[in-house]
Amino acid sequence: MEEKKDFDDLESEVIEKGKCALCGGCVATCRLLDYGYLSVDFSEERPVIREGQRCPPDCGYCYYQCPRVEKPELREGLEEMYEVVSTDEEIRKACQDGGAVTSLLAYALENAIVEGCITIANKGEWKPEVQVVMNKAGLIKGAGSKYTPAAALTGIADAILKYDLWSVALVGTPCEMAAYEKMLVVGRGTHNAHNFSSHIRLRIGLFCLGCYSYEKLMKGYLEQKQGIDLSKVTKLQISDDVLHVYAGEEERLSTGIAEIEDYKRDGCKVCEDFTGLFSDISVGNNGTPEGKSSVIVRTDFGREVFEDALERGYIEAKPIESSGADLIHKLMKKKKEAGIAEKERRKKRLMEQSK
Ligand code: SF4
Ligand code: SF4
Ligand code: SF4
Repeated sequence: MEEKKDFDDLESEVIEKGKCALCGGCVATCRLLDYGYLSVDFSEERPVIREGQRCPPDCGYCYYQCPRVEKPELREGLEEMYEVVSTDEEIRKACQDGGAVTSLLAYALENAIVEGCITIANKGEWKPEVQVVMNKAGLIKGAGSKYTPAAALTGIADAILKYDLWSVALVGTPCEMAAYEKMLVVGRGTHNAHNFSSHIRLRIGLFCLGCYSYEKLMKGYLEQKQGIDLSKVTKLQISDDVLHVYAGEEERLSTGIAEIEDYKRDGCKVCEDFTGLFSDISVGNNGTPEGKSSVIVRTDFGREVFEDALERGYIEAKPIESSGADLIHKLMKKKKEAGIAEKERRKKRLMEQSK
């Protein structure tokens, strides 16, 4: 029988090869298994194992559930696209674009679809922090994109082990949606620790063209090079290939993303998914006018949630313009091709080095 792989193999095959998406899936899995040997080292932006720790020979789940070891298989799903805006003024004011994510989560919480939501808050100086929230105030705190890695899947372990929640919404980047799918595929038929597979009810994926190193983008570039006081930043937004940095009403910076390309995480350069193909509902800002969200309903359950939120007046929606849908498809194709090309480049480089 083939020997089981473990965290050492995850390190050598994924993390040290610049493929890690920092989704947090390995850390969450190890915690759910009640080992808790792994954590995220945010200064190095990588998962790490407790020093000197040896793993049980029959485990290895952190390796097998990693979406960068092997991708999960995509089930054919729906692709219904809408232009959406929240009907809640407080949410609209606090949120990026149309506030669709926050309103869908508020609907899910207030109508007992979920008990808690895993989102990312600003810990201060725009440092992302995973939070499990159970009310609208918490949701508003987590509104807006952060563009630096947070390892959202660690929130699954928090929701189950710390808060004892039975039904949770997970909001994350496309890699985090894929990582949860992989956790399910590997975990459901084997350990299913703490019965985790029945806890995540709703998955909302956020459009993503890339995520940046916190130290390089926020500290090195925005704070040191551009002289921006991070504690005053109220919103970061990337739209139409431009990064906008706001402090209240004032736009402190607007720069093309080519300028910050060097700060992109290596794991993002091989990423092929723009919209979150493994979500129930995907949300972003491309393809719709300012102040609106683009929403893609991908599963029957996603449609149920979306239609009920609409019926109960949490959101307003209309089918997306065909030019918007075309743009989203174009960006999906572009990201997929870029990810494949980067993988090919890396493969070639390795072959040349081994000659
Ligand atoms: S991609 Fe996710 S599961 Fe894989 S090593 Fe990185 S954090 Fe862990
Ligand atoms: S092999 Fe098991 S115990 Fe060891 S780090 Fe991975 S999940 Fe944790
Ligand atoms: S670019 Fe891909 S790997 Fe990077 S954060 Fe976005 S979805 Fe994850």
